[in-house]
Amino acid sequence: MEGHFAGRVDAARAGTHAQIDLDALSSNVGALLARLPDGVELMAVVKANAYGHGLVPCARQALAAGAGRLAVARIDEGLLLRAAGFTAPVLALGPANPALASRAARGGVAVTVGSVAGARALHAGLGSDDPALDVHIKVDTGMHRYGVEPTEAVALARAVSGDARLRLEGLFTHFATADEADGAFLHEQARRFAGVRRALAAAGLAPPLVHLANSAAALRGVVEPAGDLPGRPLVRAGLLLYGLSPSAHIPAPAAFRPVMTLLTRVARVFTLPAGEGVSYGLTFTADRPLRCATLPIGYGDGLSRRLSNQGWAAVSGSACPIRGRVCMDQTVVEVESAPAVAEGDVAVMLGTAPAMSAEDAARLGGTINYEVVTAISARVPRVYLRGGRAVAVSDLFGLLEVPAT
Ligand SMILES: *Cc1c(COP(=O)(O)O)cnc(C)c1O
Repeated sequence: MEGHFAGRVDAARAGTHAQIDLDALSSNVGALLARLPDGVELMAVVKANAYGHGLVPCARQALAAGAGRLAVARIDEGLLLRAAGFTAPVLALGPANPALASRAARGGVAVTVGSVAGARALHAGLGSDDPALDVHIKVDTGMHRYGVEPTEAVALARAVSGDARLRLEGLFTHFATADEADGAFLHEQARRFAGVRRALAAAGLAPPLVHLANSAAALRGVVEPAGDLPGRPLVRAGLLLYGLSPSAHIPAPAAFRPVMTLLTRVARVFTLPAGEGVSYGLTFTADRPLRCATLPIGYGDGLSRRLSNQGWAAVSGSACPIRGRVCMDQTVVEVESAPAVAEGDVAVMLGTAPAMSAEDAARLGGTINYEVVTAISARVPRVYLRGGRAVAVSDLFGLLEVPAT
């Protein structure tokens, strides 16, 4: 099937779509690698469709730019990478579904385990002809979401190492407060993790890989050092690769550039008469005649309904406020500040100023930039740019990579 683009990669044909700047992704990977201590490898986190940016092209670009391996949340996301031909190591970071253990082993997708019962369930899920399943033990050093208690880690490592169907490949933990101003608990978790590493080393159970830092911790330099204990250190970074800031306290340095721009096209320009309201519930009423534009984008595309009467789009270089409620498929903006706007003109819904940034949309919508970009839904085509040219597109019909025409 040819999808929206009729076999051609041509951004000019795209209506509502997200442009994904693969050069920005590469330069973000490079900027992060430049900050990592020698001997620390980058595991590019591409879960949830690469935070909404598009799994396959982003994973490929991250590897080409120097990431050594990939991480996803679920086993099926890892299998999708294998189906797309990726041979790099892939780890599924979330709790592993034992029903997918056999497919993970056959696909060479490493999985996470957080309990002896979980290790046994994975074992039981393997078929007799399956290769050994690579396992990373997750330790709960204080986030209290998933993982084994530090005091139980040696017993779990022993159970995994003693199971011929499982192979202990890694040990990791995850920070609860890496993006907060106060670094005290971050360092406490790192200290607890180092204790677990030492205990495993003393028991002769140290796995080949160790990892704890996410983007925010990597920016703060809280990264396991290579050296004194066995195990090769990795950093698991997602957000920074997409050019987004971990938080207001831990902003992305200037070298990091946003990868996604969400665009749409003006579908109607009209005057809202004084005293008339707009969109469902008529929650905004014009106090004078107002030029308005209808944009074919809504919460069905992942534009949060919480931006009703709050967010804005950039039209002709001018910030145009959302008037009334964001609908499933359409949104109205006031274009008084962009008098020349016409049907078919491009409107930037998320991007760099004067457009809303993902951080702006997060603040207005009461969430975080992670959710803003991850929410961009499957029906929004992603157009991938390299050197300013569209080189690929993914839409509801799949991924198309052909030379731009
Ligand atoms: C999502 C995730 C990451 C990546 O976090 P960023 O803040 O996006 O860098 C790292 N580790 C785990 C366990 C995750 O779930």
